[in-house]
Amino acid sequence: MALITKSIKGTQDVLPSESHKVRFVEQTALEIAGNCGFREIRIPVFEHTELFQRGVGDTTDVVQKEMYTFLDKGERSITLRPEGTAGVVRSYLENGLYNEAMPQKLCYLVSCYRYEKPQAGRLREFHQFGLECLGTASPAADAEVISIANDIFSFLGVSGLQLEINSIGCPECRKEYHKALHDYFESRKEELCHTCLERLERNPMRILDCKSPVCSEIAKGAPKVTDFLCDDCRAHFEAVQGYLKAMEIEFTVNPSIVRGLDYYTRTVFEFVSTGIGAQGTVCGGGRYDGLVEEIGGAHTPALGFAIGIERLMLLMEKQGLPFPEREKCALYIVTMGEKASLEAAKIASALRKEGVEVQFDVVGRSVKAQMKYANKLGAQFTVVLGDSELESGVVRLKNMESGEETEVALSDFENAFLRASLSESLKGLEELGVDADIDIDELMNKNLF
Ligand code: ATP
Ligand code: MG
Repeated sequence: MALITKSIKGTQDVLPSESHKVRFVEQTALEIAGNCGFREIRIPVFEHTELFQRGVGDTTDVVQKEMYTFLDKGERSITLRPEGTAGVVRSYLENGLYNEAMPQKLCYLVSCYRYEKPQAGRLREFHQFGLECLGTASPAADAEVISIANDIFSFLGVSGLQLEINSIGCPECRKEYHKALHDYFESRKEELCHTCLERLERNPMRILDCKSPVCSEIAKGAPKVTDFLCDDCRAHFEAVQGYLKAMEIEFTVNPSIVRGLDYYTRTVFEFVSTGIGAQGTVCGGGRYDGLVEEIGGAHTPALGFAIGIERLMLLMEKQGLPFPEREKCALYIVTMGEKASLEAAKIASALRKEGVEVQFDVVGRSVKAQMKYANKLGAQFTVVLGDSELESGVVRLKNMESGEETEVALSDFENAFLRASLSESLKGLEELGVDADIDIDELMNKNLF
């Protein structure tokens, strides 16, 4: 095979053998957030570059090094979204969502683009599930948002994730902190990496986020932001912790968490795993009371988080966690001849309307080849349809797992199949230990399909 080109470095295909797992994780996240009133919002993949420069922050790695920015044919500078928050806030403002019930609780599934060195858990195209709660300064909202991420992980059965929280204060208390940090790092200037030297002048807090071993070692001795919080910020941070305790959510306070993005204020948090190597942060979030104003709206306290879907999937695979099974073909109709094929099309069409996955030969293969294909698909039932069956009006429905065959009148085939399929599902439930005291006749009569 001479493929004309391969996929772009740092991108991933999700194949049919995996896609149902991702869908399950995404659905779970949407539902759990939905239980707290978060509704899905969909935003474009690209925005004007300025949105991210302002909304993510000029001094961040994301903006300085990682953005996919290009000029379109109209010479406008466009950027593929590196994260979801800035776009969601832009949409919230542009569409006047602040006129609706406040706080606005929004959640999203987005692909994100960052020019980073690809490695396990670090891609150039990756996906996030995120949410934003706009219009509340209350610590109860901080705890609610954190609890949603926590609930998603526990529902999925993920273990060993540490919730680390910190408060990075407000612009007021941060002024003094920045000064203290600047003085500290200034005294160790010779040892800092090139990027951190720049950060020293522009935003010394970024140095705490540096991944170079030397810088992070120096950062360990830096003044702690929690020692510089003003009374309001301290009270807020304590209240958040009070709520988390009340909700029995375990956490540790980690003063070195500052988050990579500029717009965070007060509460910041991460869910970190030691199980997936260096890329251990599965979820990052926090409060960003200054962002909405930065993007051109009225002062609006808000907060949110984003979960990296690929990192979460990596962790779940590593921990061997269960996923629902992939959908299976419920019925494969093996056909012989044109008449049978027409009849199969009719049956398939009727059962598909009932929500059943039915397939029949659309290639023109031999009976043997069709049976082989049905086996490959893992079809639960098969039925053979040829001239003699059409003539006699009787077919044999075969349960592929048990090998058991049942004679069924063609005129009653759809009903008989639904019945057999339902009884198979109930057996499955019983095997799982579920007491399924369900009368199939009653179910069929209620027309629940
Ligand atoms: P990191 O410190 O690992 O670079 P970050 O602080 O840049 O993460 P955020 O901007 O907070 O990450 O994004 C939220 C989440 O998105 C991260 O916790 C992570 O799970 C995921 N994520 C971020 N960058 C990538 C990437 N390049 N590839 C895969 N997932 C990513
Ligand atoms: Mg990053």
